[in-house]
Amino acid sequence: MKTYRIALVPGDGIGKEVIPAGQRILDALTSAELSLHFRFEHFDWGGDYYRRHGVMMPSEGLDALRKHDAILFGSAGDPNIPDHITLWGLRLKICQGMDQYANIRPTRILPGIDTPLKHCKPEDLNWMIVRENTEGEYSGVGGRTHQGHPLEVATDLSVMTRAGVERILRFAFRLAQARPRKLLTVITKSNAQRHAMVMWDEIAAQVAAEFPDVQWDKELVDAATARMVNRPASLDTIVATNLHADILSDLAAALAGSLGIAPTANLNPERVYPSMFEPIHGSAFDIMGKGLANPIGTFWSIVLMLEHLGETSAAHRLMLAIEHVTANPRLHTRDLGGNATTADVTEAVCAQLAAKAQDIHP
Ligand code: ATP
Repeated sequence: MKTYRIALVPGDGIGKEVIPAGQRILDALTSAELSLHFRFEHFDWGGDYYRRHGVMMPSEGLDALRKHDAILFGSAGDPNIPDHITLWGLRLKICQGMDQYANIRPTRILPGIDTPLKHCKPEDLNWMIVRENTEGEYSGVGGRTHQGHPLEVATDLSVMTRAGVERILRFAFRLAQARPRKLLTVITKSNAQRHAMVMWDEIAAQVAAEFPDVQWDKELVDAATARMVNRPASLDTIVATNLHADILSDLAAALAGSLGIAPTANLNPERVYPSMFEPIHGSAFDIMGKGLANPIGTFWSIVLMLEHLGETSAAHRLMLAIEHVTANPRLHTRDLGGNATTADVTEAVCAQLAAKAQDIHP
């Protein structure tokens, strides 16, 4: 029996609904997958914690997380706290503190889900977006001076290091190599951003030489948005900077049907630190507490977590259960045009896991 220690950080808004749903799935998987067991520790960090303590998470929080095999995260965001405080105080603090430099975002049109793209068949859209997750435009370097005066100055410095760019590009080439099409698109803005982005292009060409079996091309980020809409099948693995990939992956999620479905993994590939798994949506305060949150983004993130832990058969089983449920329009939540609740979808996935377990262990 293999036991994994999982840190649960629901955070804010609908994170407090989808993470308990995710825990329910892991429990169901424990009964279905007899060789697996999960031990949970709950962390109540986020907006409410900030109101009590003046910080989103305690200073020793990273040490507490390090003891775990993986982190399952909900969202950070609060209508009464500025977004840069909630983001930097929790999610980015964990990503940077744990050196989770590779953020991956698989995008597919799941069975039963409609894409807003008129001529796109489900098999035409199967992407893996790789986002540099620790530096670039979100490095946090910059400042403000002369605040409130007419000559006020504000800077956000985009920091690209050769080591940081090289490691994310190598990660992306390796990932592309492991996928059937072995196809990578490197996205930059090296026409207008003529220093760091030109360095990206140069390093991409150097790293490409290590992967002769991977076919790769380059695209500017603005052209990439049009290509995602007009020629989705021409893309497979995509790598981009922190900011560019952040924007492209929201577009990708919308093209694949809903923000509520999309998963992500913040990986520390060398496994020095635990990696973190989360739905890509935010705290969605407009639907909080109503049972309307689509938990599929969290469940798919758990699939990524199981894959990272090496539990490929459990990951596969959960993905099949998710696809079985999305294929049924009666189990669609409101973001997908249906009436199902978070609990309906969760119980349906659990029931499917239990049914599969019956097949395997009659
Ligand atoms: P934040 O500021 O934390 O990023 P947000 O509310 O601005 O949060 P998102 O949470 O990413 O942004 O979502 C935008 C909208 O998409 C929400 O207002 C909500 O209506 C819808 N949405 C997002 N996630 C889900 C979900 N899991 N289920 C249903 N609807 C969702």
